[in-house]
Amino acid sequence: MKVAITGTPGVGKTTVAREVGALLHLQHIEIAKFAREWGAVIEEEDGTLIVDEDILKERIDAMDDVVIDSHFSEIFNVDYVFVLRCEPKILYERLKERGYSLQKVKENVLAEILDSCLINALQHHPPQRVFEINENPVEEIVSIVKNPSPHKSLLHGSKTAFLTEENLTLVE
Ligand code: ADP
Repeated sequence: MKVAITGTPGVGKTTVAREVGALLHLQHIEIAKFAREWGAVIEEEDGTLIVDEDILKERIDAMDDVVIDSHFSEIFNVDYVFVLRCEPKILYERLKERGYSLQKVKENVLAEILDSCLINALQHHPPQRVFEINENPVEEIVSIVKNPSPHKSLLHGSKTAFLTEENLTLVE
């Protein structure tokens, strides 16, 4: 089984993927780390990796029982995609603490407000395979993998509404 965990930087992908991997006996593939190991990094710009997607896809295609952790993990052939969501205000604080420049913090918070990762996931996978996770990420993901009910999937739409005037003041 292959599971992708995606979301804006700072939403908690690595924290969650590590735990989900341990509970479901899936190897945790943190793409940023493996890309270096596999010689798939073309360039690094302001802490952002430019990668050769073909190399990464070829490697991932040859693997099984993995949980893929990346903000672009939707590009891979997987059974399920989980999009982690985070309140923009909380994300703002986390990214500032991480030492991101104000511009980079705002870019990422805006991406979260505009559902960018969710939209990308839906461009690559049918909605019944895409799940949006707002709370209790580890428990929710494990429960959905064990019992993948389409009722919880994006087939029934998104339950997140971060595009509010209050949230937009964060990125002004
Ligand atoms: P990502 O992989 O999406 O960039 P991380 O897993 O590195 O995110 O988490 C970013 C920060 O947020 C870390 O400091 C982590 O401890 C914290 N964090 C992650 N998930 C949660 C959560 N559910 N509640 C509180 N803090 C969290």
